Amino acid sequence: MFRCEVCGQVAPARVPVSKLVVEVRRVEYPRRKKVHWHPQADDPKDRWVDDPGGVGVETVREVRTCPGCSPASQHARASVLRRSCAGADR
Ligand SMILES: [Zn+2]
Repeated sequence: MFRCEVCGQVAPARVPVSKLVVEVRRVEYPRRKKVHWHPQADDPKDRWVDDPGGVGVETVREVRTCPGCSPASQHARASVLRRSCAGADR
């Protein structure tokens, strides 16, 4: 059991929780020298190689949602709505 943080309803027991990401941040990972072990199949000289670093996204905050408010059901609902709206224009 858990309380959905979108609609506020308490979900019954055995209902799976879904997580909805509501805040993210951009992160830069620095270059690191010689951190990955890289075995060589045909060369007896195994060696450590550099990690190139890079840019990514990290989750800052996520909320628990019931199946009715989960992102998958929202996406399905939106696609049904788009289809019905597109049909209404014709
Ligand atoms: Zn909900």
